[in-house]
Amino acid sequence: YYSQIKRNCYLPAETIDGYQMQVLANIELFEEVTSVIDNGGEGIGLYRTEYSFLNRNSWPSEEELYEEYRDMASIVYPQKVVFRTLDLGADKISPHFGPLEEVNPALGLRAIRFCQQNLGLFKAQLRAILRASTLGNVAVMFPMISGLQELREVKEIYFDVREEMRRQGQPFNEEVPFGIMIELPSAVFIADVLAREVDFFSIGTNDLIQYSLGIDRTNRYVSYLYQPLHPAILRSIKYVVDAGHEAGIEVNVCGEVAADPYCIPILMGMQLDSISLNPQAIPGIKRIIRQTTMDECKDLLKQVLSCSQVQQSNRLVREKIFTRF
Ligand code: PEP
Ligand code: MG
Repeated sequence: YYSQIKRNCYLPAETIDGYQMQVLANIELFEEVTSVIDNGGEGIGLYRTEYSFLNRNSWPSEEELYEEYRDMASIVYPQKVVFRTLDLGADKISPHFGPLEEVNPALGLRAIRFCQQNLGLFKAQLRAILRASTLGNVAVMFPMISGLQELREVKEIYFDVREEMRRQGQPFNEEVPFGIMIELPSAVFIADVLAREVDFFSIGTNDLIQYSLGIDRTNRYVSYLYQPLHPAILRSIKYVVDAGHEAGIEVNVCGEVAADPYCIPILMGMQLDSISLNPQAIPGIKRIIRQTTMDECKDLLKQVLSCSQVQQSNRLVREKIFTRF
């Protein structure tokens, strides 16, 4: 049974009524690129670049990063790779670089904040990504953006790096798409403002759930409260997708909900442009998409959006999956 699902993993994720969704992969390590190809991933929607910074004794050099990124881009070509800039901190720390003395690391110096305070490292990574972009299949994405001022500061750094590379005659693709992760409630509510400044959004539901519901994603004592179908989460995702589309940019979801069979029909109903998930889950998710219609996904979405409690939405989607698949 599983081998049959696996055999079909190269078919497009197209609903019975012809709506197609791009299915990309999330990876953490270079070696995982083979599992993307093996499982029918249509590119890499999230490369968590921080993992190659962990478990080592010194920062990698620009040259090392460039070689890694260039190889990655050429292996998946003509499909794309979205390089997320360093998301170090909180649950992604290296004993060598930390631990920082923070009472609340998840609310502390992580991701883009860490990069803004470690400019040399950040710029080296941006240069490496840009140098690896010459084939034309590379995008760059910034994690944990919380507001407009911060986004503009990051853009300025990015544009400075590009300007410097031009001056040095260092080739790169001028059209590299520039996106941000929407994973903080503050970013959700100003998604309409942020959308005017970027080429795409990727909704990081792992952190969005953590920060919206106030639940540490690594804390098992409260994991029962970690609910993707909570009305606040569904409304947030919907709001971001609509704000993005209103501004004419693409919207992706790259959190674990994209690998959740119960959530996928709802995400479909929101008409996302793409989803990005762990490679092993791709064949099963593609299969569900191929067995459904956009009409029924929209219908289910409408029903869950009218739920005021997560228990109701959980029940609805479970009924749906059991009767349909
Ligand atoms: C997320 O927060 O949903 C996400 C995809 O990023 P990460 O899990 O790496 O924080
Ligand atoms: Mg995140």
